[in-house]
Amino acid sequence: MNLDTSIEQVFRLTPKQKSALAKLGIRNTENLLYHFPYRYENPATFKHITDVSAGEEARIWGIVKKIDYEKTWKKKINIAYATIEDQTGSIKAVWFRQPYIAKMLPIGSSAIFSGKVSVRKSERYIANPLYELVPKNIIPDFSVSANRATTLLPLYASSSGVSSLWFQKAIQKILPKITAPEYIPHNIIERYHLPERTIALRAIHAPKTATHAEAAKKRFAFEEVFLLQLSRMLQKAAIKESVGTVFKDLETLEKEFINLLSFSLTRAQKRALGDIIKDFSSGVPMNRLLEGDVGSGKTAVAACAAYIVAKNGAQAAYMTPTEILARQHFDGFCKLFAGTNTKIGLLTSNLCEKFPSKVNPRGATHISRSQLLKWVREGEFPILIGTHALIQKKVAFKNLSLAMVDEQHRFGITQRARLLNHHAVLPHFLSMSATPIPRTLALSIYADLDVSLIDELPPGRKHIETSLVRPKERSGVYEFIREKLTSGEQAFVICPRINAPDPNKSAAVEAKSVKEETKKLKEKIFQEFEIGAMHGKLKPKEKEYVMKKFKDGKIDVLVSTSVVEVGVDVPNATIMIIEGAERFGLAQLHQFRGRIGRGEKQSHCFVFAEKYSADIFRRLKALTESKSGFELAEYDLQFRGPGELSGSKQWGISDIGMEALKNLKMVEAARAEAHNIVETKSLDKYPLISAKIKELRIEPVHFE
Ligand code: ADP
Ligand code: MG
Repeated sequence: MNLDTSIEQVFRLTPKQKSALAKLGIRNTENLLYHFPYRYENPATFKHITDVSAGEEARIWGIVKKIDYEKTWKKKINIAYATIEDQTGSIKAVWFRQPYIAKMLPIGSSAIFSGKVSVRKSERYIANPLYELVPKNIIPDFSVSANRATTLLPLYASSSGVSSLWFQKAIQKILPKITAPEYIPHNIIERYHLPERTIALRAIHAPKTATHAEAAKKRFAFEEVFLLQLSRMLQKAAIKESVGTVFKDLETLEKEFINLLSFSLTRAQKRALGDIIKDFSSGVPMNRLLEGDVGSGKTAVAACAAYIVAKNGAQAAYMTPTEILARQHFDGFCKLFAGTNTKIGLLTSNLCEKFPSKVNPRGATHISRSQLLKWVREGEFPILIGTHALIQKKVAFKNLSLAMVDEQHRFGITQRARLLNHHAVLPHFLSMSATPIPRTLALSIYADLDVSLIDELPPGRKHIETSLVRPKERSGVYEFIREKLTSGEQAFVICPRINAPDPNKSAAVEAKSVKEETKKLKEKIFQEFEIGAMHGKLKPKEKEYVMKKFKDGKIDVLVSTSVVEVGVDVPNATIMIIEGAERFGLAQLHQFRGRIGRGEKQSHCFVFAEKYSADIFRRLKALTESKSGFELAEYDLQFRGPGELSGSKQWGISDIGMEALKNLKMVEAARAEAHNIVETKSLDKYPLISAKIKELRIEPVHFE
C-alpha cells in the first residue's frame, strides 16, 4: 500500500460512502491521511456515570444498551429513550422530537454524550444530550484511575455517509502501513524544526500528547501555505515570461475616458489606472488585483481599461458572479459609452443583448444567442459583459486582450483560468475584489498577482451609522425609516431565508424569510409604500423587473436574501436592515452594509439578531464599531473558527491552512522559502515537490 493506492482497493465501501468520500475529494490513501481531525477528545475529562448528579452538565462516555421510541398519545410527540452504560453504572437518555435517534444509535454503539442531568421519579436521566459516536475499542478503562487513557481521541468532520467513526477506523488501519516521502526540502524542515511527513501524519491522527498534535499541525499548515505560495509564484514567473499585447495612445484614451465621467476620479483610482497603463505598455501580460473596499469605485477603473482596449481594436471581457451585477455593469457601460461608438454585448445564461440598438442609439436590444456569439467571434463586440456564461465552450473571441473578473473571490481559480486560456496571446488580467481579507491570506492566495489598492472612498461619503437593535426598539426603528422613505429615500431588508420554515421539519432553520417579511411590511408596517421581494428562486425576468423598479425608485423597500450581497449599486438607498444577522459572517455583513452609503446622503444600517450569545454580541458589536472591512477581516480570522471565515472554502485552503494564517511569521517564512526556490530556479532539485505542485494545479477548485 502506498500513498496513491485507491481507497476502494483498501476498504469495502458502500455506494453512499463512495460518493461522500468523492465529495470530500478523497480518492487515495494520501487524501484520506490528509483528512485531519478537527479536534481531540481527552478521555480524562469524562465523568463516571455513577458520579453524575441531578442539575449538572455532564459528559459521559458509554455504550447504548437499550433504545426505543414512542409517540405520546396526546401531543403526538416522538420521544426516544436509551439506556447508556459504562463500567460504573447506567443512566437513561431521553430525546424529544428526534425519532431518527434510534437509527443513529443502535444497541451496542459507543458514544460520548453531553447534556444536563435531571431527575424524575427518583431516576436520573439526561434530556436531549448531544452525542458523538466513537469506536468501541477505545473506550477508556475508568475502573483504574491511574490507567486513564493516554492517547487523545481524534474526531473528524463527518459528512452524510461517512462518520467520524469511519474515519477513525479507516485511518488507524492504514496509518502504520504507510510511509510518506518527505517533499519539503530538508534544510527547510530543519530550519523551522518541523516534524518529518510520516511522523507528522502519525502524530496528527494518533497523538500521544497535545504538544505532538500541535507540532504536526504546524508542519501541515506550513506545508500547505508553502506549496500554495510556491505554486502561485511559479505561475507568476511563467506569466512574466509570456508576451502581452501592447496598447497605444494610452494617455490620450485615459483623458478621453475621464471626460466621459460625471465625477473626477479619486487619487487612489488614478493611481490604480496608472498601474494598469504601465502594464498595458510593458509587453508582459498584466496580472493584477484591484483591491478596494465596497463603494471605492472599482468599476470606473475597469471601465477605463475596457475603453482603452476597445479603442485599440481589441476585445475586453468582464465577468461577474451574478446576473444582477452583469446587468448593472452593462447598463452603466452603455450609459457611459453612449456616443463613443463602442459596441457592447451582454451575455448570461438568460440574457443576450447588444448596445447600441439600431433603432435607438442610446438603448440596448435583445438579440439571439447565436447572433451574439457570432459577433463575439468576429470581433464585432469590443466589450462583452456577462456571468459564468462567458467561460462556456461555445464562447470564442476574435482577439480577447483583457479579461476582467468582478468580485473575484466568488470565482475559483479554474474559472479564472478558463477565461484566460486558449487565446493566441495571453490576455491581460484584471480582477476586482472588495472582500477585505487578512493580510496573511492575501500574501498567500494572491502571491501570483500584483495588487493595486484603492484605499480611499469618493469624496462626500458619510460614515454609515450602524446600530445593533434590541427587539423592543424595533418599532422605533420602523418609525425612523418611515420618515426617510417619506422623504424619498429607499431601504433594503436582508433576510436569511426565502420561505418560512416548514413547521413539520424539526431540523429546519428558524429564521426570518423574505416572503414573511415582505407580507408583514406590506400589511402591517409600511402600508403606504411599495415593497418588493428579491431572491435567488425568482425567474431571471422577475429579478430584472424587481431590480429595475428598485433602481428607478418605484419600489421603496426591497426585501431580499443575500443575492444582493455583492456589487449592487443603488445610491438612493440609504437604509439597510439586516435580519438574523448572527447567521452571516462579518465580511458578508460588511458587504451588505456596502449596498448603502453610496451617495452623499447619511446612511443607516440596522442590525437585528434572532439569537444572542456572548460571541454573537461581540461579533456584531465589532461590525457596528469598525468602518473598514480590513479591520473586520482580521477580527473574523482571530475570533471565529477558521472554517467559518467567510468564504474560506473557495480559496481552496483547508481549516489547518486557515489556522496558519493567524501566524504572520509562519506565512512570511513560507513565502521567503518559496520565493527563494523560484528566484534561484532550483525547483528541478526537488522532483517530489515539483510533482506535487503539478498535482495541485490540476486539482479542481471546489467552489461553493
Ligand atoms: P465598488 O468599488 O464597490 O465596485 P462602484 O464602482 O460600484 O464601487 O462605485 C460605487 C459608486 O460610487 C458608484 O455609484 C459610482 O458611480 C460612484 N463613484 C465611483 N467613483 C467615484 C468618484 N471618483 N467620485 C464620485 N463617485 C464615484
Ligand atoms: Mg463593484
